[in-house]
Amino acid sequence: MSVEESLKPLFSAITELKPSFIDRLSQAVSIPSVSSDESLRPKVFEMAEFLKSQLITLGAEDIQMRDLGIQPPPVVDPKLQLPPIVLARFGQDPAKKTILVYGHYDVQPASIEDGWATEPFTLVQKDDKLIGRGSTDDKGPVIGWLNSIEAHRKVGLELPVNLVCCFEGMEESGSLGLEELVAQESDKYFKGVDAVCISDNYWLGTKKPVLTYGLRGCNYYQITVSGANADLHSGVFGGIIHEPMTDLFKVMSQLVDVKGNILIPGVNEMVAPVTAAEDKLYDPIEFSAEELSQAAGADTGYFDDKKDILQHRWRFPSLSLHGIEGAFSGAGAKTVIPAKVVGKFSIRTVPDMDSDKLDQFVFDFVKAKFAELGTKNKLNVELIHGGAYWVSDPFNDNFTAAANATKLVWGVDPDLTREGGSIPITLTFEQELKTGVVLLPMGRGDDGAHSINEKLDVPNYIEGVKTLSAYLHYYAAGAK
Ligand SMILES: [Zn+2]
Repeated sequence: MSVEESLKPLFSAITELKPSFIDRLSQAVSIPSVSSDESLRPKVFEMAEFLKSQLITLGAEDIQMRDLGIQPPPVVDPKLQLPPIVLARFGQDPAKKTILVYGHYDVQPASIEDGWATEPFTLVQKDDKLIGRGSTDDKGPVIGWLNSIEAHRKVGLELPVNLVCCFEGMEESGSLGLEELVAQESDKYFKGVDAVCISDNYWLGTKKPVLTYGLRGCNYYQITVSGANADLHSGVFGGIIHEPMTDLFKVMSQLVDVKGNILIPGVNEMVAPVTAAEDKLYDPIEFSAEELSQAAGADTGYFDDKKDILQHRWRFPSLSLHGIEGAFSGAGAKTVIPAKVVGKFSIRTVPDMDSDKLDQFVFDFVKAKFAELGTKNKLNVELIHGGAYWVSDPFNDNFTAAANATKLVWGVDPDLTREGGSIPITLTFEQELKTGVVLLPMGRGDDGAHSINEKLDVPNYIEGVKTLSAYLHYYAAGAK
């Protein structure tokens, strides 16, 4: 029997189970599992228990609630427990391939005062939208995997692969403890994993499904310029001393030009050239400059052309100036000369930039520009956070299975996209498990993942369950 034939009864079951799937998501959304709010930590634990009980009901084996210990500072409660990583398996047949699915059960904060039209922790169905915190990020996809299992059970269809679930509760707060757990379990719980599927990103727009094969990395720097040992009055000291803020402005203004070009020598030279084949991948992508203006809330883009916009978002590095610590930033006309200011900026990185080399180029450039000032102030420049970029072959077995699944359910070939931001765990899974990762999103680009009125469209939820299910079957068939 072809994959398509065997999926027919499964898809019918998924359609029939829609009310129960919406109810399951509604139960999940009703638990305010906000990981960044210490007072809501018990709710994050409650959400983990909810998943556990669902997993038991659905026949999971080897369910483990992995304790990650106490949350490191800064915390208000020094004994604050990290929520567990929930591990579970469905099947351990050595004859089958094994897929690991990752998702997170914690959510961003939300309260009606922020401007929500409805109570954020009550799933509300309005027209064809399911509105509520976590509906799309990431409870919809996590519950989506459970729904897929329920549908398989209902029609008596065996899962075509061994499924390993890894659901974490700290994703919105830096994924504390996850990297260590993945490394620790690579040869244990995660042994034999053939491929990883993460459903925690979005379509680019609202109409066409996508698969995502690349993410930019991010190196975050700070430049400290210090002079006097206390803030001074400009009426007394203005005009007779070297001012740290003036020095910092001079240096920071030379990092990037007003068209977004990075001015640090050596940086652009490390970027891998766009090949003709790669350039072609951008042709079918549904996107317009208007969508960018809409998303930005203003018509302030550098580019009008679709390819220029997307390649500069996904494929080329960018440098952004973020802020100055220690500077006067209040209202009014305070005449202070800040004694010490810390400028913050970051560079979004892409293949084949070498992170260590990049740091060295940045340090050398900043020091050289500072030396040119002939100032008597002191300078320090350092990397304060680094995360690597990720890019995958979008035509490997894992992506092909996801593309076939998307085509079957949505009737179109998915756009192959990248993202300008980072999902650090993607690279961790790839490196630690030595396997490929596909980012297979469920929701649309306008879902409002971290903002008010977060939603998931009902078709994305239900067809999304079909897509995730079909992906498993295509992967199993292709891997034979
Ligand atoms: Zn997420």
